[in-house]
Parts: sequence; C-alpha cells; structure tokens
Amino acid sequence: MANSNNDTRRDFLKKIGVGGAMAALGTIPALSLAADAAPKKRTQKGPVLNLGLQESVAPGQTLTEKLDFMEANGVYGLEIGGGKLASRVTEIQKALQNRQIKVTAICAGFQGWLIATNEADRKKCIDSSKEILAAAGALGSYGMILVPGFNGQQPSLPFVEAREILIEQLKELGEFAVKNNTTIILEPLNRREAWFLRMVADAASICRDVDSPGVTCMGDFWHMTWEETDDMGAFLSGQKYLNHVHVASRKTRRMPGEDEGDNYITGFKALKMINYKHYVSFECGTKNDKNIVVPAALKLLREQWDLA
Ligand code: MG
Repeated sequence: MANSNNDTRRDFLKKIGVGGAMAALGTIPALSLAADAAPKKRTQKGPVLNLGLQESVAPGQTLTEKLDFMEANGVYGLEIGGGKLASRVTEIQKALQNRQIKVTAICAGFQGWLIATNEADRKKCIDSSKEILAAAGALGSYGMILVPGFNGQQPSLPFVEAREILIEQLKELGEFAVKNNTTIILEPLNRREAWFLRMVADAASICRDVDSPGVTCMGDFWHMTWEETDDMGAFLSGQKYLNHVHVASRKTRRMPGEDEGDNYITGFKALKMINYKHYVSFECGTKNDKNIVVPAALKLLREQWDLA
C-alpha cells in the first residue's frame, strides 16, 4: 500500500514538473522543504517543538513589535490571517527580512465553501482560495488552512455527495498549491462549528483519497477536546498528511495553562512518534496580559514536550 501510494505521488510530481530530487523523497514536497528549513532551537535528540503564534495572539501594536516579542521568546513561526493577504505580501516580506521567523500557515480568509449545493458558491471558494494560495506561496508558507463547510453555510450537499465533490475540487486546488510551492491544510472543527469535518482521521482520509502532495491536514487541540477520544490516536491518524497544529487551553480556548489541568503530553508523544517537524501554533485569546500569559504558556508547552 505504502509503495503504491509513493509511486502515485512520484507520478503526480513528475506530471506537474516538480524536480526529480524532490520526487525521490517520496514525500510531500512542501513538507520536506519545510522540515529542512524549520529552526532547530533545542539540542535534544528527536523532533523539536517548533512553536508559533497567530499574528493576533502576539502582543504588540505593530507587526514589528510582535515579531520582536516572538524572537525574544524563542518563537519562530508566524501564522497570518488569509483575508486580503495578497495586499499584505510586500509588508510581511519586508517585516521578515533578517529574521529567523517564517510564515507557518495562512488561516482561512476564503469566501464561499466547497460542499455548497450551488456551483457559484463552490467556485467562489476555489477562486478565493487560489488567490490566497498564490500569496501563501510568495510568503513561503507551508500552507493555507481550509474548512470545507461550516454548519452555517447552507445549502450544502448531502454528506456522500459532498465528500465526492470535495475530493474533485481538492485535486484542482492541490495541483495549484504545488505549483505555488505550498499546500491546502484541511482543518477539522468541533461539531458546533462544522459537522462535515470533525476528526483528524477523517481529514487524513480525505487527503489520502485526493492523493495530491498539495493537500494536507491539521489538528487543533481545542477542537480535539470535544471530538477526539484520544489526542495520540488523533495525531497518529494524521500521519504524513499532518502539516500544522493549533493549540489553546483545552476548555475555554485561552492561552495553554489558563484552564486547570491543561495537558498536551499524549498529543506531543504522538507528534514525536510521527516525527512531526512543523509548528504548534497558538490560536487562542486571553483576558490577561499577553506579555505575561504567552511566555507562561510557552514554558508550559516546552515542559510538557520534554515530558512526552
Ligand atoms: Mg484552529
């Protein structure tokens, strides 16, 4: 099974003109490049914990202040919202010059949805996603996070038909993503937001069926609290398709550690087991001073990674 998948991937890479050396890796090209580029900040053996912040999570009034804060705290991954991203490419490129920080992912920002009953709504999603993917590629982002359909996006296709049409569209978006040296990252959400895609295993199974190096998935610890029976099982099911991770406190989506008993250790164990080399990125709010709670959360996650 694994060999035939790899062969299919190589054929796909050849077809779309990705270089032979990259194809020989037999893995997702953006992932391979990204793994090489990921900052190595700790000397312990095995995978290191690469932490990132969404732009809005980092304290500071300007992007420069936010990046200064991140570097001072050993955080080298920046996640940016996808809204109007094309108009921000130059600003972000300039801000990242002479810094170690890289763009980890672009969070949503697309319009329409891919499981819509109406073709016009599906096309709106494809077109707006392509615009974001082009900007994501220009910024060197590992990918763009995409949700196939939120509960409120209606009318949507019935489940079986929705999955089939989703896969066809993801093949097109995946090919476009690879041409722009980036990926689509499918994000499962909890049932209150998106019944259609709730679990990492299901997202990974969609990736498998799309079979494009440009289509990957992620897990979000906060959504996983409500949907997954086991953090380790969830991340293991993501396997080679796992391209990004979101983190927040487990119950109220604040900074990790702001809810009592916040625990990420079994999930981290799984990330180590699959040799995960990308980022664990904060997607959360707080009612407290970010200059205090963000460093505390970073410390907690580093301690739990070492325990995993
Ligand atoms: Mg998330």
